[in-house]
Amino acid sequence: MKIAQKVTDLIGNTPLVELHKVTEGIDARIVVKVEYFNPGGSSKDRIAERIIDAAEREGKLQPGGTIVEPTSGNTGVGLALVAQQRGYHAVFVVPEKVNEDKRAVLRSYGATVVVTPNVEPDDPRSYYNVSDRLAELIPGGFKPNQYFNSNGPESHYRTTGPEIWRDTDGKVTHFVAGMGTCGTMMGTSKYLKEVSNGAVRAIGADPDGSIFSNPQDVHGYKVEGVGEDFYPGIYDPSLVDGFYHVSDLEAFAMSRRLSREEGLLVGGSSGMAVAGALKMAKAEKLTKDDLVVVLLPDSGRSYMSTIFNDQWLEANGFGKILNDEKAALGDD
Ligand code: PMP
Repeated sequence: MKIAQKVTDLIGNTPLVELHKVTEGIDARIVVKVEYFNPGGSSKDRIAERIIDAAEREGKLQPGGTIVEPTSGNTGVGLALVAQQRGYHAVFVVPEKVNEDKRAVLRSYGATVVVTPNVEPDDPRSYYNVSDRLAELIPGGFKPNQYFNSNGPESHYRTTGPEIWRDTDGKVTHFVAGMGTCGTMMGTSKYLKEVSNGAVRAIGADPDGSIFSNPQDVHGYKVEGVGEDFYPGIYDPSLVDGFYHVSDLEAFAMSRRLSREEGLLVGGSSGMAVAGALKMAKAEKLTKDDLVVVLLPDSGRSYMSTIFNDQWLEANGFGKILNDEKAALGDD
């Protein structure tokens, strides 16, 4: 019988699937690693499990302890899931701008959600500062601090990297991912470079306005979970061989194409990663001997009121996506 004893036993071992439609005109094989197959629905389940394992080993988290983290999204879900399975409390501090659906997901897993005003990071009421104070005040409080916790990259070094190498029979030539905390890129790149004697190239797809590829021109953008306005503590630039910039418009248009044409309902950072991979395949004139693996962090279900909502696209200046989609239908 094949029966998991805990839902957290199902973290990792996500599948690879080859793209055929959005890759028209490209000779290289483009394969995506679909992280929404994780039980919490994203790549962040991997880091949650390893961060909590390490905290237990190091005595930072004791039975009945409380995990406190400033997060609204996927890391919160991963941590809430692992916390629940192991009997910890989870408290997530989110700014007001995080929508009620996302708060409800965290509460559904049994977490407590604390909402703070939308203020600058150094304001004492900011979600960063409130989470620091809560982690100190709550007896048995533990703050994973994902931007500085080396167990994040370590989880990808031990799982994501080896899975890609195994599932491509060591034929992978390029790895493409977006970067937020950078955990995915750092851990996976390190493993793939080690095992291939440096042959695998690691390429970052980065939003226009993010510090990693545009340190001179940091500004806001709409795609969620990727790009930063500061360098995370776990970032090591030597593990990234190059960057391709992707605009919000390109990212969202590709997310919608992936769901309509490839049957992959994925989020904006996934669309961004694929758009970046296609730019690279063209610019670097990759051939049929190249095998590009692109990591897709989460599902499109969390973006029904944004990327997959036509009114939202119009209202936010992305009407061109809708016009292009109509024109493409007309051509059929
Ligand atoms: N996409 C989404 C939707 C995310 O939530 C994250 C995590 N911030 C990423 C991509 C980037 O992953 P990482 O933090 O490992 O760089």
